Parts: sequence; structure tokens; C-alpha cells
Amino acid sequence: MFAVMEDALSPMSEALAEAEAAALMGEVPVGAVIVEAATGRVLSRAGNRTEADRDPTAHAEILAIRAAAASRGQPRLPDCDLYVTLEPCAMCAAAISLARIRRVYFGAYDPKGGAVEHGPKWFAQPTCLHRPEIYGGIEEGRAAGMLRAFFAARRG
Ligand SMILES: [Zn+2]
Repeated sequence: MFAVMEDALSPMSEALAEAEAAALMGEVPVGAVIVEAATGRVLSRAGNRTEADRDPTAHAEILAIRAAAASRGQPRLPDCDLYVTLEPCAMCAAAISLARIRRVYFGAYDPKGGAVEHGPKWFAQPTCLHRPEIYGGIEEGRAAGMLRAFFAARRG
């Protein structure tokens, strides 16, 4: 395993804890954490809140980006890394570009709604002006297991 992957395990565990907390609230279990790369300091953490906020855009990544930018008092986060338990969707991928995030570490791959390795592959589009480094499949088993359990329980 690459060193960069090993360094990602602790922040990804925090993102998984956010996902777990979201599931307990009846949200699709996705969690995100933003870390200041140089110091390892966590700037923000969030889980999905689309049900609680009645907001279709309240994905974990969006909430974490907003909170980190607000805490910094600046609209871009070029020295920060985002950890998220699921492959980002098209909306979140675009937000990641707008925020100039340095690296994205994601957990489970999402063939249905993902937009990094699947579907629109946002970061590969010529109209995408900022492409972060991407590391997929970090703690994939835990992230995917949580999503499977959540949807299985919902189907009853
Ligand atoms: Zn999203």
C-alpha cells in the first residue's frame, strides 16, 4: 500500500464516523472531512443532511466544503484535501473543482451516481478547470458495507 494511502486511513475513519451518524438520522450514509494538508488539521466534517435540511444539495462534500471555507474566511481551499466515503456525484465533483481542493480520497465506488470514475467523469472534462489528485477505494469495504446495510434495512 502506498504511504499516501496509509496516511489517508485516519481522516477516512472520521468520514466513516460521519456517515454512520448520518445513517442513524435516516440519511444516506455518506460522510466527508476536509483536512489542511500541511498540518493534518481537520477543518470540517459533515454527513449527508438532505432529509434533515429538506435540501437536495445537502451532500456531505458540499457541507464540508462550505464549513471549511467559512472557517478559513476564503472561498477556495487549494492546500486542503477532501476525504469522502463515496465517489462524489456530478454536483460535488464540480464543487470540489470550484474549491480548488488539492486531493480527493474517496471510499466506495458508485457506478450509479458517481461522477469521478463513472458517468460524466467530471474531472476529465475539458470544461473542468481544476483537477485534484484522486485516490479511490480507501476503506472501500467499510464504506460500501455501510451503504448496503442502509439500503437493505430501508427495503425492509
Ligand atoms: Zn454529491
